[in-house]
Amino acid sequence: MTVVHKSIFIDGSWVPPTSDRRIDVVNAATEESLGSVPEASPTDVDSAVHAARRAFEDSGWSKMDPAERAAVINRFADALEKRGDQLTRTVSMQNGMPLSLSEQFEGGYAVALLRYYAGLATSTEFEERRPSPLGFDTLVHRSPVGVVAGIVPWNYPVTLSITKIAPALAAGCTIVIKPSPGTVLDSYILAEAAEEAEVPAGVINWVPGGRELGSYLVSHPGVDKVAFTGSTSAGRMIAEHCGSLMRPVSLELGGKSAAVVLDDADLSKVTEGLYFASLANNGQTCMACTRILAPSSRYDEVVDALSDWMSSLKVGDPLDATTQLGPVASAEHRERIEGYIATGRGEGARLALGGGRPKGIDKGWFVEPTLFADVDNSSRIAQEEIFGPVLSVIKYDSDDDAVKIANDSEYGLGGSVWSADAERATALARKVQTGTIGVNGYVLDLNAPFGGVKASGIGREFGPEAMAGYQQLKSIYLPV
Ligand code: NAD
Repeated sequence: MTVVHKSIFIDGSWVPPTSDRRIDVVNAATEESLGSVPEASPTDVDSAVHAARRAFEDSGWSKMDPAERAAVINRFADALEKRGDQLTRTVSMQNGMPLSLSEQFEGGYAVALLRYYAGLATSTEFEERRPSPLGFDTLVHRSPVGVVAGIVPWNYPVTLSITKIAPALAAGCTIVIKPSPGTVLDSYILAEAAEEAEVPAGVINWVPGGRELGSYLVSHPGVDKVAFTGSTSAGRMIAEHCGSLMRPVSLELGGKSAAVVLDDADLSKVTEGLYFASLANNGQTCMACTRILAPSSRYDEVVDALSDWMSSLKVGDPLDATTQLGPVASAEHRERIEGYIATGRGEGARLALGGGRPKGIDKGWFVEPTLFADVDNSSRIAQEEIFGPVLSVIKYDSDDDAVKIANDSEYGLGGSVWSADAERATALARKVQTGTIGVNGYVLDLNAPFGGVKASGIGREFGPEAMAGYQQLKSIYLPV
């Protein structure tokens, strides 16, 4: 069944777009149409930003008692939860995410994030009286930064929208979200949930469109802060715009993280944990550990274990609850991944598994789980983000050598260390230049900051740190 939307959600209402251009969304597994939505124009972005400004300044959202804002956010969470099945199936059909992961993240995690920030809105002090060593007091006051432009990619479209919406709303900001064109249908479900939850008009607005519209939104004079998740190349352009406008920006960008397998690791536990750490969402995950660092003393054993595990993964229909790897998100994206596989072969890496398209599947943008061994860390397949089910195994000689190789990357977003000795692994984890890293597993904690170092970004999402990113600080000195 295809869905055809005729309007866009701005200022609490479904309004007709001012352009007649449309965005078509295609099912990644069947290549059939899933539906279409209007493409917003710059005029629609103007309306959305003005609505967000009015809601921020006039509707009282920014000045509302945090407990009242929390009640709205909790109602939004309830309305999303009710739509869980529709939301998770829509995401899986759009970008190929296995339903089990979609349920965990796009359903469960997104709702949990909203409830977490609703709780934080009520438990956080927005003003603190701080004694000064100079003998007087200062009021440190936190106010919402204003109107936020949220730009979202296609790989976890719901979770990554909510990672911006939830802390922004909790802080008292209003927001305009630009979803990714390839996964725009779920944003309509979010808007329907916001409408049912009676989120006040203008507090959240959605403008469907591509990179040009995104570029228009981030430079809009009515925007006070930009929250971007996407590629490092787009992030650099956005950072330039925001730099010249002196506009605060958070950037969650690409990665090429390392999983360091220490010489005492239990390989069955490693492969079990790497399903999420390295191949979640068919490898289309920013913090995926796509470089597997294996000790020279056990190198062949690690390659064999990875190869056995990857060849056992169930590839197929993302809507089948038992599927572990679905298709990648688009025909162009598969071409890009296949280009990297050809590059890896050309660079002299040994193809230990896969490299082609799965046999017996004649529709959908599937790529075989692919493993390269004998990979040089300076090669392109070890340095550039492939964003598909392609892993590279790199040999190291000592723990220090492993750290050196892990850090020899433009990126620093995720990572993991695997060992029978958790303390040894934790000590090594401290030395890796990255924003997040797991010991014998990788899980995203919504109460802890998530983000990158180096080319993986600036700023943090999740945790109280994300809400602080949507606040301005003002010191009110009380010298007498
Ligand atoms: P992308 O950069 O092409 O697009 C991301 C979003 O930005 C889309 O909505 C797009 O329309 C918009 N956009 C692109 N160029 C823009 C510009 N110049 N100005 C304004 N908006 C612009 O990325 P993608 O292909 O959609 O997503 C995959 C990338 O996102 C990968 O590199 C992945 O690592 C990264 N990512 C990072 C995180 C993180 O938290 N660090 C999470 C998910 C994805």
